[in-house]
This record gives sequence, structure tokens and C-alpha cells, in this order.
Amino acid sequence: MSEILVLGAGMVGVSTALALQAQGHSVVLVDRHSSCRETSYGNAGVIQTEAAEPYALPRNLTTLFRYGLGLSNDVLWQPGALLRMMPALWRYFRHSAPAEHARISRIYSQLTSRAADDHAPLVDAAGMRPLISTDGLSEVYRQQSSFEQAARDAERFREQYGISSRILEGAAYRAEEPALKQAPAGVIHWNQSWSCRDPGALTDAYRALFIKRGGVCRQGDAQSLRQTGKGWCVKSENGSIEAEQAVIALGPWSPQLLRRFGYRIPMIYKRGYHGHFDAPVALKRPFLDVDNGVVVASMQKGMRVTSGAALVGLDSAAKPIQLERGAAALRSLLDLGERIDEPQWFGSRPCMPDMLPMVGAAPKHQSMWFNFGHGHQGFTLGPTTGQLLAEIMAGVDSEIIRGLAPAARL
Ligand SMILES: Cc1cc2nc3c(=O)[nH]c(=O)nc-3n(C[C@H](O)[C@H](O)[C@H](O)COP(=O)(O)OP(=O)(O)OC[C@H]3O[C@@H](n4cnc5c(N)ncnc54)[C@H](O)[C@@H]3O)c2cc1C
Repeated sequence: MSEILVLGAGMVGVSTALALQAQGHSVVLVDRHSSCRETSYGNAGVIQTEAAEPYALPRNLTTLFRYGLGLSNDVLWQPGALLRMMPALWRYFRHSAPAEHARISRIYSQLTSRAADDHAPLVDAAGMRPLISTDGLSEVYRQQSSFEQAARDAERFREQYGISSRILEGAAYRAEEPALKQAPAGVIHWNQSWSCRDPGALTDAYRALFIKRGGVCRQGDAQSLRQTGKGWCVKSENGSIEAEQAVIALGPWSPQLLRRFGYRIPMIYKRGYHGHFDAPVALKRPFLDVDNGVVVASMQKGMRVTSGAALVGLDSAAKPIQLERGAAALRSLLDLGERIDEPQWFGSRPCMPDMLPMVGAAPKHQSMWFNFGHGHQGFTLGPTTGQLLAEIMAGVDSEIIRGLAPAARL
């Protein structure tokens, strides 16, 4: 019998398994897939140390009307899904009030600021430096007015959180980014963020590192989890696995499993799509095309375009409208080339209404632990909340740990 069962081998699960292993525990990692395929596979690959403030729900009526009428490429929604998520969205709206968002950002910024430092030893030990760029992330603004507002926000981030950036006129940025066909209005270059040319490969390399260090990884169905007299048991392809403690790190699928154990987790599913293009010129660094709601990054498979948030059911059919619109808009800035033929990928950002990941002890079960709900930045935050959960399980307490604790938030 192992000590700890970690369910889910996305970036959050593998990082948690590594952190617990580093503390000397015997850990079994279980996923239904033999390699990373879900949210941690298809994202934009940015390790976002600049993301000190999580995405709030806009509270001004103009933006909400634009979302409601489908006029913004940032957000789309389906009526049925919107209705199902309404209680969680209402809480999200309330947590997005300025004073509450400032409180949440004080916690969140302490997570994102250490994220690259937490990835660094794992990247090195996994031999994955060639996949990583430390040259930052850009935000490209097409409208002068939105650029000027962003420049003021970037100055505020420098003063408030110590996050450095370069604020550049569009022509100056075009001179250093050969892939751009024309100059945008302006660019914020967050020069401390990192990016990865293959997020799925990095997650799998962390999983391989865990195995190399003596960890056990099995294919199995987390839905078979049940409590036993001694702890927890789950079915795998190699038979039943028993462990004293269980960590739920199933990303967007965590609420489904936990419902069976009496938890109603108010998660908001923000689906995103990606597509790859055979662009002739690679980008120096990834960028967010702010006015069109897409991120574009040069990856091993080609130029990857990722879309904004679609509020749809977890399993509803693929409708990559935002991706298609965003890619069409990008063509005025870049030579994207032809779309590479592949099955349409999508994944759901697992977002909590208070924008913080759910990290800590399960409120109703001894020896069950949560680590999910990382929203827009789970690829960034996996190693950070993995370490924090290992500390929590070892009995450490701190203000930040109390801020993430499930008991106070459910
Ligand atoms: C389009 C898009 C772009 C994004 N870009 C970024 C970015 O640039 N930077 C960033 O930091 N974040 C980004 N994100 C967010 C980030 O990808 C997620 O927050 C993160 O991947 C969540 O990781 P996870 O390990 O919690 O979930 P996942 O990666 O989804 O892992 C959950 C795992 O659970 C497994 N699982 C589920 N059900 C079962 C079951 N019944 N039995 C066994 N296993 C099961 C799945 O197979 C999966 O491996 C983006 C997300 C999207 C959708």
C-alpha cells in the first residue's frame, strides 16, 4: 500500500506528485491517459509570472452587453451552459468587485511571482531547457486608446507588484519582431515571463522525472475511487491501487468526481480551442492579440493559436468559432500560412468563482486533499501549488495557505 494516490496527471497532478515524492512519500499517480492530452497539453504554454491579478468578470454594462450579444471574441456562451453555471457566475461577479478582487490579487500575485522559480529545477532535472524561452510574453494592442490604458496598468503593476515590462510603440516592436507584417498601435512586453514550445511534452517530461525518481504511474479511472477502512482505493489497468491518502488533481473533471462524495464545487468551465499553422516566420516570443482575444505562439508543431473563453458544457461538441475569427484577424498582422490538418483540440480552463485554486484538505473527509481549479494559469502554477499542497500535508500553515483552503471557500 502506497502512502499517497494522486489522481490526474496534468501539470497540477504531476507537479504535486513530484513535490510529495521530494518529501520522501511513496506516491502513485493515476490518469486515464498514458500521456498528457487535456488542458495541460493544448494551452498557450506561457508561464505567466506577469499574471499578478486573475481575470475578473467585467462589471461594466458595456462589456457585459458586448459579451451577451456575442460581439467580443473574448467570450462566447451557450444558453443551457450559462444557466447551469449561473450560481457560480453570480459568485464570480461578486468576487470581481474591486475591493474583493484586490484582496484576491494579493494572494494570487504571491503564487504567480514564484512560478518560474518553481518550474526551473524541474525543467532542468527533466532536461527540458530547450523547450523553454525566458524572453517573455507580449500584449499587442491594435487600438491606441487600449494601448494607453494598458501602459498605465503596466506602470501600476511595476509599482504594486514589482513586475517589469517594456512599453513600446508599434513601430519599435515591429523592428524587433520580424514576423509582424505591420505595426500595431503599441505593445507591452512582460519580459520576466517564460514560455514553452510544447506544454504537453513538458508535462510528460515531469511525469517521466517522477517515474525516474522512483514514482509509480498507472492508467486508471478516477471515477472508481472509493473509501476503504485503511484509506482509498482506485481501479487501474494493473488492478486495484490502495493508498492511505488521496489527492484530487483532475482539473475540470474534479467536481464530477467530488459530487459523489457530497461536494458541490461551483466551477466555471471556460473552454478554449487551439489550431496550428505552418507560418513561414517563427515568432520571437508569444503574444496576446488583445483586441481579438487570441494568443499566438511558435511551437514544435507550428504556430499555435489559442482562443478565449467559451462558456459551454464540458463535453459539448466542438465549435471553434472564436479560433476561426481570431486566426482570420491575425492574418492582417502575420503570415500565418495554412492551417495544419489535425483533429480539433479543445480544453476547459477550470475556474473557481473566487479566481483562486482550491488547495488543501477536503472539508468532509480525512486524508483527502484538493488541488484543482487553476483557471487561466494552471500550466504556470502547477509546481507552485504542488509544493504548497505538500507543505500543507506536512502540517505547515501560513496566510497564503489559509487563503487557498477549501473549507473557508465552499
Ligand atoms: C486554450 C487555453 C490556453 C491556456 N493557456 C495557458 C497558458 O498560457 N498558461 C497557463 O498557465 N495556463 C494556460 N491555460 C490554463 C491551463 O492549461 C490549465 O489551468 C491547466 O492545464 C490545468 O491543469 P490541471 O492539471 O489542473 O488539468 P488537466 O491538465 O486537464 O489535467 C487533468 C487530468 O485529469 C485526468 N482525468 C480526468 N478525468 C479522469 C478520470 N476519470 N480518471 C483518470 N484521469 C482523469 C485527465 O486525463 C487529465 O490528464 C490555458 C487553457 C486553455 C484551455
